Amino acid sequence: MAGPPQELRVVTAGGNGRPRPLHEDFRASSNGATRNGSGDPGRVPTIGGRAIDPEKVTAEVEAMGAAEAIAWAIETFGSKLGFAVSFQKTSSVIIDIAHGIDPNVRFFYLDTELLFPETYATRDALAERYGIEFERFVQDNPPGLRERWEANLWNDSDDCCATRKVETMHGALEGTECWVSGIRRVDSQTRAEAPKFGWDERFDRWKLNPVADWTDDQVWNHIEEHDVPYNPLHDQGYPSIGCMPCTSVPGEGEGARAGRWAGTDRTECGING
Ligand code: SF4
Repeated sequence: MAGPPQELRVVTAGGNGRPRPLHEDFRASSNGATRNGSGDPGRVPTIGGRAIDPEKVTAEVEAMGAAEAIAWAIETFGSKLGFAVSFQKTSSVIIDIAHGIDPNVRFFYLDTELLFPETYATRDALAERYGIEFERFVQDNPPGLRERWEANLWNDSDDCCATRKVETMHGALEGTECWVSGIRRVDSQTRAEAPKFGWDERFDRWKLNPVADWTDDQVWNHIEEHDVPYNPLHDQGYPSIGCMPCTSVPGEGEGARAGRWAGTDRTECGING
């Protein structure tokens, strides 16, 4: 079912021709405090070991367009930046923009081994178009999942997402200081307040949502103007695409993510919410 695995590859972002960060007035952290933006008074918010004012940085990034924000993140975090890709339409946009800024940035994906064939085909089309080797992260035979799947109970359990996605994500983020997501505020009510940049308490590191404020029209205009490969399932009525067993076409008038875990209370897998 799953597409052919690609070799894991760790890349280092280059440094040529990129804009400089806006906040070069960071004060060096004197105590080697852990990087964080959690507001815990015992921990000093830092980026790259430098103390920052997280509200100031968040406001700066919020004012940036997607390309500027991605360029800023590449410059700021270098090889400690990772782009998580789902091979949905916003991934196509972000890959196109990021690769145009620095072809050596790191893209990775979580292979639940339950993705659509069209999703694997989109991965391959993007890999060929841009010459990217997407880093693949997968759980080998998650304990007990096979049994629950066969008992048809897994879909109602948090365990499947927690193992196949969240646990795998922790491994994918090792060594990163910031990760990039394609979520947008129009996706759902739970994402309506998503900042473009902020501290991600789920994964204890910074998170950039460079297209948080993009509309569907902006996404599709970018894809069309730049002739970017995209997941053909979008043309078959799927506005949001995840694993095969948990993804369906929303009903008439339903929200873009209504086809995800339809018939259950779940709205997020635990990666973005
Ligand atoms: S979306 Fe469904 S199949 Fe995929 S990890 Fe979550 S519960 Fe499992």
